[in-house]
Amino acid sequence: MSDLVLVLNSGSSSIKYQLLQAVSSQVLASGLVEKVGESHGGRIVHEAGPAKLEYDGAIPDHRAGLLRVFEMFRETGLDLATIGIGAVGHRVVHGGEVFWEPTLITDDVLRAIDDLSVLAPLHNPANVVGIESTRELLPGVPEVAVFDTAFFHTMPDAAKTYAIDAKLAAAHGIRKYGFHGTSHQYVSEQAARFLGKPTEELNQIVFHLGNGASASSIRGGVAIDTSMGMTPLEGLVMGTRPGDLDPGITPYLMRAAELDVSQVEQLLNRGSGLKGLSGVNDFRELQQLIDGGDSQAKLAYDVYIHRLRRYLGAYLVELGRVDDIIFTAGVGENSPAVRADALAGLQALGIDIDPTRNETRAPGIRRISPDHAAVTVLVVPTNEELAIARAAYRLVSTR
Ligand code: AMP
Repeated sequence: MSDLVLVLNSGSSSIKYQLLQAVSSQVLASGLVEKVGESHGGRIVHEAGPAKLEYDGAIPDHRAGLLRVFEMFRETGLDLATIGIGAVGHRVVHGGEVFWEPTLITDDVLRAIDDLSVLAPLHNPANVVGIESTRELLPGVPEVAVFDTAFFHTMPDAAKTYAIDAKLAAAHGIRKYGFHGTSHQYVSEQAARFLGKPTEELNQIVFHLGNGASASSIRGGVAIDTSMGMTPLEGLVMGTRPGDLDPGITPYLMRAAELDVSQVEQLLNRGSGLKGLSGVNDFRELQQLIDGGDSQAKLAYDVYIHRLRRYLGAYLVELGRVDDIIFTAGVGENSPAVRADALAGLQALGIDIDPTRNETRAPGIRRISPDHAAVTVLVVPTNEELAIARAAYRLVSTR
């Protein structure tokens, strides 16, 4: 079968996509649809080799966005209906207790993903609409769901159980699930390949630091803990999400500031984290503010680093021995300052960074610790699209 895979990541108001060859990892086209369902600012940027097409205009829903994207593919000489796509791979955010493997999408699977929307109300409904659209536009092409929660399915009960009323937790599926799993798995496997060892022999800590951010500890290729929880709000400080928060703050805010449930949700998902503290969620803008002497921006940075180090400490203890620490995603791959500050002063634990290696920009995976350090520190570019394409291709080609 063809290893050409269309990968879709349908967010609540956006669609990211790539058409790529799963085996060679060659990308034929990619793009981003923004502000789906919003009255202003709808935009699509589509790139195929040297060609770049842009569309500005209302995009009423995901189906309309995808129809436009399919047209843009045709305009760049790639007719998705006839080009011979082997599979469509969908990033699906929440697999709950139901899915922990890449899964061929049937009517029943689609219904189950929809049912899991209670656990991910901002994400799973968008994934369902994305799947329905491609099923209609590419009839007969196998569709595969790759779940963001899947890699963390292996966490032991002690790590994934919240200390609340057990019956209530069971009735409502309340436990830690973890997210960004495709990225954590991909970069940990890439690191193992780079180090020339099987994942089974490695204890690894991964920091996925993008607009969303999460950490994980992985023993022998198996995830044993992660910072995100039942929702993607827990854990590290993020662009617009707070990460760990005293649970008492939510009811207090509802009473004291008279916020209702949706206002609290909005505050925690869109108005907290770096944005809440400094006014900006983009890390580059935060650094500019800090360089300009903005004390709130500096505080936001310090809180961000403090939280990272707290998770690092926890995972060092959980693992006992650590072979490698991995930084990935937008901030992790591009901010030498974050990497240096996150690991500062830990030489006694065998953790060190070579300043020149850390500052040197280079594509691909690279070591930033000195050669003699007991713990290898790596920058590993993540590639969730490739990981999803490969998972989809593997599943479809072995049916
Ligand atoms: P992601 O969600 O992985 O796309 O990461 C987005 C985040 O990475 C944003 O906060 C960006 O500001 C940040 N980022 C991207 N490039 C850089 C850079 N060169 N230096 C610092 N942060 C960056």
